[in-house]
Amino acid sequence: MSWINQNQVTLNKPNNLLGLFTQSRDSLHHDPSDQFTKLPPHLYNKHKGKKPSQILYDEIYKDIIETPNINRFVQPPPQYELKDQNFKCWQCQKPISNGFLTIGANCDQCFFHGRYFCNDCMSVVRMSIPWKALDSFDLRHYKVSKLAQSEIDKLYDLPILEITPTSKLLQLNKTLFEFMVLKRQIHLLYDMICDPKLVQTLLEKRMNLCLKRNCFSLKDLYEIYNGSLSKVIQGYYVILFKHIDLCKSCQKRGHICIICQHVVPIHAFDIKNVTYCDTCLKVFHRDCAESKSCPNCLQQR
Ligand SMILES: [Zn+2]
Ligand SMILES: [Zn+2]
Ligand SMILES: [Zn+2]
Ligand SMILES: [Zn+2]
Repeated sequence: MSWINQNQVTLNKPNNLLGLFTQSRDSLHHDPSDQFTKLPPHLYNKHKGKKPSQILYDEIYKDIIETPNINRFVQPPPQYELKDQNFKCWQCQKPISNGFLTIGANCDQCFFHGRYFCNDCMSVVRMSIPWKALDSFDLRHYKVSKLAQSEIDKLYDLPILEITPTSKLLQLNKTLFEFMVLKRQIHLLYDMICDPKLVQTLLEKRMNLCLKRNCFSLKDLYEIYNGSLSKVIQGYYVILFKHIDLCKSCQKRGHICIICQHVVPIHAFDIKNVTYCDTCLKVFHRDCAESKSCPNCLQQR
């Protein structure tokens, strides 16, 4: 059985790391229950045995992410023509026309609704469109109606747009892929760090990045697209990594590489440098794993 899993380190080849999003890495951590002894007793009982990211989901994000009556606008609208609206503005019903070769046109098509609106009902502000973000990671700004502008504004900060681990977007878009690797690191780190509040102090309104599910707001996706979010989160990751490096309690949660046996513990969240055996879940450096069989599994035979 091949134990060096397919995601051997090359970040230039995104596909090789795709497995990171699906495998059973979550089970590598120690029993997390000892992290909750500081919670109020009723919450401790309620969440006993759950990982911090699961508690975060259950307590804060579940309602937002699973609310069925939020229109997420993740499907492209049908392509309407003026005649489908009887040549009237979709909102105020004023007569509208495309003019002659667009000269004298008094309306425009809203990319969000796919409908035509008169010039008064179109917004001068252009916006990113949720369905375009999920369809092709296109976060450019498009013409929208005022109606669409207010609808997009309402959902702009809500982490209701999910990118699944098998999404084709991850294979097509390197920026997004690299952010997903970073997000995965943050998620795994959140579940092992001695005090989850340390993460919360840094991430504040971006705590959705600690969830196992990849749920983003349109704002998140826009800032991933323009590179700004990645810089910020990478900075936080470095700070948290330093904490774990120096913290006795966090170091106790690390593992010793079973191949090189080096005294410095390694951590499953450090997915660019650390991997594990698919069969026995023992952890080792990616470099050590190269072209060797898992000593633990060999011993068991
Ligand atoms: Zn109008
Ligand atoms: Zn610590
Ligand atoms: Zn090693
Ligand atoms: Zn093994």
